[in-house]
Amino acid sequence: MLASAKPAAKNAADALIVGGGVIGLSAAYHLARAGSRVTLLEKGAVGSGASSRAGGIITAHLWSKTGIAARKISLRRFNELSEELGDYGYRFQAVGCLNLFSPAEWAARKQLLPLYDACAVPYEILDAAAMRRRWSLLKPPADALGLFDPLGGYSEPADYIPALTRRCRDLGVDIREGVTVSAFDIRGGRIRGVSADGEALSAERVICAAHSWTNRLLTAAGRSLPLKSFVHQRYVTAPLQNAPALPAVNANPYGAYFRPAKGKRILLGGETAARAEFGNPPLAFEMDQLRAPPGFGDSLREQVQPLLPLLAGLPISDERVGLISFSADGEPLLGALPGLPNLLLGAAFHSGGFAYNPVAGMLLAQLASSGATMLDISAFSPARFSAAETAGYLSAELRQRDAFSRRH
Ligand SMILES: Cc1cc2nc3c(=O)[nH]c(=O)nc-3n(C[C@H](O)[C@H](O)[C@H](O)COP(=O)(O)OP(=O)(O)OC[C@H]3O[C@@H](n4cnc5c(N)ncnc54)[C@H](O)[C@@H]3O)c2cc1C
Repeated sequence: MLASAKPAAKNAADALIVGGGVIGLSAAYHLARAGSRVTLLEKGAVGSGASSRAGGIITAHLWSKTGIAARKISLRRFNELSEELGDYGYRFQAVGCLNLFSPAEWAARKQLLPLYDACAVPYEILDAAAMRRRWSLLKPPADALGLFDPLGGYSEPADYIPALTRRCRDLGVDIREGVTVSAFDIRGGRIRGVSADGEALSAERVICAAHSWTNRLLTAAGRSLPLKSFVHQRYVTAPLQNAPALPAVNANPYGAYFRPAKGKRILLGGETAARAEFGNPPLAFEMDQLRAPPGFGDSLREQVQPLLPLLAGLPISDERVGLISFSADGEPLLGALPGLPNLLLGAAFHSGGFAYNPVAGMLLAQLASSGATMLDISAFSPARFSAAETAGYLSAELRQRDAFSRRH
């Protein structure tokens, strides 16, 4: 399975991590903090995949017991990370996260409230008048309902990623940028290492945090996972006169989300529902090659304007386009690859991988060190899909609206 015939070089690290997005960096950080020696291989610059493009919105109001339990840990960790990475310029913005619903959408979301109660996740249900009173900039229609996560908020990826990278380096993580892993070395039911830019590196454990490139690496080793990627985009406006007093908002009836952004701006994002899936990108693909449909940012801004009138006439100054990826059941893929206990992976975090990263990194670090995790993550196990389910999902041609509706 290894591209190079050269014998694997002895690598000083306890774990090799493929991918320097927030998932790989978080795994590196949590491993290094616990004393492990880590080498992280990133084919571009750290954060150059989806992570630097993220809106950075975080909430625990998810759809499954495991997802909610995991996000509760992430939210706690984001607050702790404000301390741990404070000297490196990072701070979690605890503005809360408001999920907005039309009456029809609310009928579906209401079904999840018993699960939120069972998981002890705090929430407030707000009618339109209550939302207008609390956030005077918001003008929801009279029949709208809001589900507010008081512990939610956002992080600026442009602060978080450099801070986490520097902290990792200070802890001794060997971060190698511009290094492409071309193959996994799998022999005798174990991964022995990787081939990277012609060099064979051996490792006891490999963590694959390669996001949309995961299947490209796995198929070269005769394996695959039910993972599909879709193009997604977000925008930042020109500065306002004052910093907007807003929570992070998932404006479901408007097909968009927004939040305050650094420099008195608004970050605004949304799906292109009719756009076809992206396919299985080659290793040489970079997300900078992606484009949003022309004018999409302005049409999104106009779409959201009735809810947030201050957007009227506000120019857009930044556009970021990237990929988000979904598994066949909408839940993440996190754990060992079936039949390969020392190849661990974290992928398919839908448009919520930034929010998952602290807990995902902790879980991957726990799997790589003791094997015991603080949460039962069998619902995320890559082994939960049969070969037929994987093949069926991969052969179907989906548009984004056909994938699971998962925002953050
Ligand atoms: C526009 C947009 C907005 C989003 N908004 C939010 C949000 O508000 N909240 C939220 O929680 N999530 C959001 N997301 C989702 C979030 O960005 C992703 O889920 C998350 O960044 C995934 O992190 P990752 O580390 O798995 O992937 P990535 O950041 O893509 O990192 C994977 C890395 O692996 C590297 N790599 C791949 N193959 C190889 C190889 N063979 N060798 C070496 N390196 C390799 C890539 O170069 C890449 O840097 C958004 C995504 C987009 C695109």
